[in-house]
Amino acid sequence: MEKIPVFLPHIDKEMRKHLENALDVGWLGMGASTKKFEDKIMEFLKLKDRYAITTNTGTAALHIALKIANIGAGDEVITPSFNYVADHQAIKMSGANVVMCDILENNLGIDTVKAESLITKKTKAIMPLHFAGIPCDISKVYELARKYSLRVIEDATHAFGTSINDKKIGSFGDITCFSFDPVKIITSIDGGCVIVNNKEELEKGHHLRLLGVDKDTTERYKNKRAWDYDVVSEGYRYHLTNIMSSVGISQIKNIEKFVNSRQKVCERFNEAFKEIKEIKTPETNFKNISPFIYTIRILNNKRDELIEYLQEKNIEVGIHFIPVHKHTYFNDGKISDMSITNKVVEEILTLPLHSEMNEEFVKRIIDSIVSFFK
Ligand SMILES: *Cc1c(COP(=O)(O)O)cnc(C)c1O
Repeated sequence: MEKIPVFLPHIDKEMRKHLENALDVGWLGMGASTKKFEDKIMEFLKLKDRYAITTNTGTAALHIALKIANIGAGDEVITPSFNYVADHQAIKMSGANVVMCDILENNLGIDTVKAESLITKKTKAIMPLHFAGIPCDISKVYELARKYSLRVIEDATHAFGTSINDKKIGSFGDITCFSFDPVKIITSIDGGCVIVNNKEELEKGHHLRLLGVDKDTTERYKNKRAWDYDVVSEGYRYHLTNIMSSVGISQIKNIEKFVNSRQKVCERFNEAFKEIKEIKTPETNFKNISPFIYTIRILNNKRDELIEYLQEKNIEVGIHFIPVHKHTYFNDGKISDMSITNKVVEEILTLPLHSEMNEEFVKRIIDSIVSFFK
């Protein structure tokens, strides 16, 4: 029996062709392909008066998003503990303090009632996560933001392609961040993207992305260099190269196909498990969702036994996430009510989900789980 990995990047002929072409051009750094990938992202998200800035990772995108929003030393940023640690590290990198919040049972996104109780004079932003590609209560997040004049930096690293009210995440709101790391729905090997609302923030993002250097972006987008540049702000080396962008371009061409095939598998999983009373499936039909991972919750303390059973069938599973407040570096004792987070982490299980998934894999996963609970 072939092993079924949790993640399986879609590496095809087209990707190899794009890579080879990019190597043939010979401009390896940030360049025309970076610009083209950004254009493709903006086209896909149907952006109007919003702009995309690609970065070398999603974590870098979160970091410069915070800097664009002027968040720094002494400020507080609220984010769920039930999240990947990238967000918390990015907040720390900006100089601000992380304030961790609990989540809701239904969408595993931030609990805005608990978030409101965590707001202080120092709070400058909320960083909500659309877990697994399923939207959090984003309209309530924006209500809070309006009420307390906070910035919102959406962690949409799981939700590239998800729509809310027929609008793609990233096409509305304040600042949105995506990731194109090796396991995300589309990949540029590693990569990320920040979506901002105006030209000033776009320019700020360009400076922050490339060592604070001005003029350079315009020239590099033509595979050239500006020799008479100035350095106008702090900055990092966070740009996405032509080579990585060429991979991103090959992937984004197929995104509809990837999303559709993943939605179908998620619907089949939901259907197959809905009668099993020890399983709680996601509360969605996946119609407007771009599913990054498929997670279920295993009730009655059966999860570890099930994991062992699936391992025997050569099915790899994952746990997303160990909440960040449980990690040594972030456990400073000042943790707010995490009752839902602490419960969910004991139950949650990530099943394998791939783009254009092998039918034998889908059947084996369903059959194994159904037979375990028989
Ligand atoms: C993937 C991911 C990130 C960061 O993206 P990288 O591209 O891996 O740096 C941030 N937050 C969450 C929840 C993620 O899953």
